[in-house]
Amino acid sequence: MLKKPVIGITSSYVKHNHYMEGVYVHHDYHRAIIEAGGIPLILPISPSSMVPHYLSLCDGIIFSGGEDIDPQFYQEAPQQNIGFFYTERDQMEIELFHQALSQNKPILGICRGFQLMNVALGGTLIQDIPSQKKHSIAHFQSIPRSKPFHSVRIEKQHNLLFDIVQKESIFVNSLHHQGIERLAKDLYPVAYAPDGLIEAAIYEKASWVLGVQWHPESLANNDPLMKLLFQSFIKQCKQK
Ligand code: MN
Repeated sequence: MLKKPVIGITSSYVKHNHYMEGVYVHHDYHRAIIEAGGIPLILPISPSSMVPHYLSLCDGIIFSGGEDIDPQFYQEAPQQNIGFFYTERDQMEIELFHQALSQNKPILGICRGFQLMNVALGGTLIQDIPSQKKHSIAHFQSIPRSKPFHSVRIEKQHNLLFDIVQKESIFVNSLHHQGIERLAKDLYPVAYAPDGLIEAAIYEKASWVLGVQWHPESLANNDPLMKLLFQSFIKQCKQK
């Protein structure tokens, strides 16, 4: 049997009621991974001491969307419109990101996951775009997440994202109220929203480390370019 790469997906904490409290990952993540030929493995929020053990099982990591990031990790106090955050998740994911990077594992950061990469590398976030960024476009769509919402302009220069999609402009979905403020110095911006917000970045020193502000896992079913993005990621994970 052909060995498929195992893709660790970070997860959120949710509480539905007294009986249902725990791990949550939107099903589009594992559907997109299976469709692209990988094995999804959901990683629960755990003490950081579990990170090396989880990583030893995974050929690549997806940092998924979810809660806001505790602003203490970029040395800020919480502002009025910050959403729910879960400090233990941030702690674990920052550790997971650094260890995955040091082992040269392919990394795909999605929405919050992109912001997490930025914070882990010393960058900062806009805590709430609508109240803090003048002249911004809408970044939280009211239409279904499987539908594209705003355009992004993609840089052509030495750019993993451009190599995959081969287009200077694409349409993406948008489900975030936070965004990149100052990009970490080791990240290189590769895509922008019409209001100038950074929508994607790569870590240049690694072969496949990409963060995107949109949700490609929810577009992949209908958008061949986002399908290509997952295929490129899975292919890189196979080469380990
Ligand atoms: Mn957006």
